[in-house]
Amino acid sequence: MEERIASPAKTIEILQSNDFQFLKKFGQNFLIDLHVLEKIVKAAAIEPEDVCVEIGPGIGSLTQALAERGKQVIAVEIDGRLIPILKKNLADYPNVTLVHQDFLKLDLKALLREMGVERPIKVIANLPYYITTPIIMGLYESGIPLSGMTVMVQEEVARRIQAGPGSKDYGALSLAVQYYADAYIAAFVPQNCFMPRPKVGSAVLQLTTHRQKPVSVKDEGLMFALIKAAFGQRRKTLVNCLRNAQQLDFSKEQVLAAFETVGISEQIRGEALDLAQFAALSDALTED
Ligand code: SAM
Repeated sequence: MEERIASPAKTIEILQSNDFQFLKKFGQNFLIDLHVLEKIVKAAAIEPEDVCVEIGPGIGSLTQALAERGKQVIAVEIDGRLIPILKKNLADYPNVTLVHQDFLKLDLKALLREMGVERPIKVIANLPYYITTPIIMGLYESGIPLSGMTVMVQEEVARRIQAGPGSKDYGALSLAVQYYADAYIAAFVPQNCFMPRPKVGSAVLQLTTHRQKPVSVKDEGLMFALIKAAFGQRRKTLVNCLRNAQQLDFSKEQVLAAFETVGISEQIRGEALDLAQFAALSDALTED
């Protein structure tokens, strides 16, 4: 086995020999813990036929582990200073394709098509925290066939994504992600596993895409607009949230009639509803 890029000694050697200075604006906190790396790879359950897409490979710590297990790795890095370092560090792995791009601007669908990738991909990343939600939701909304995502995120975000009704962490993000995938926290990761240390704790989140959506809804857009409105003013009752939301235009009578159809009380708050109830409410408000 090749020398581990993620070992603290090797990471320091690479950083020093390249005189590399971390850039805060790119959320650069490199992983330097081999046990955590193992947990990520285990949660992702990479098979020899898998095509892995990594967002933000840094100096290649995780990329190396993915290249050793999967068929192909597509690693997208925004920071041009890291490209020559990555090329050198990963020279022994011909199955790695480096892409120098802002992931949020990349047309991943077109790239996969160009590369002849036909099977659902696995996304694995120690994410830059400043763009966690746009990356996760962008991938789901893109419709790219995705078998799973294994991502390091801030602990607080992992808890929010995994939460269910009744939890203080439950919100629009929980429902948005759970519509597409089953979410569980595979590991909690302390700050000292990174260089430089981030300010908050992290967690490895495993998102396994549903084979079939857990609810069927006539108008997905309306359901998500209801969810957004429901959590926009957490202290208010759901009926008031829906009435006050600028993007919705329902009368109180329409809302209450829909509540009756779904069997929910006028006093209920949005945080008490699960995905199936939001879907039912959306359908009750959708004209046939
Ligand atoms: N994967 C490496 C590791 O685990 O040590 C680095 C992880 S670091 C938390 C995040 C990485 O994402 C950095 O390499 C950073 O330059 C890169 N990055 C930040 N914003 C990005 C973007 N919009 N598109 C692609 N890469 C990005």
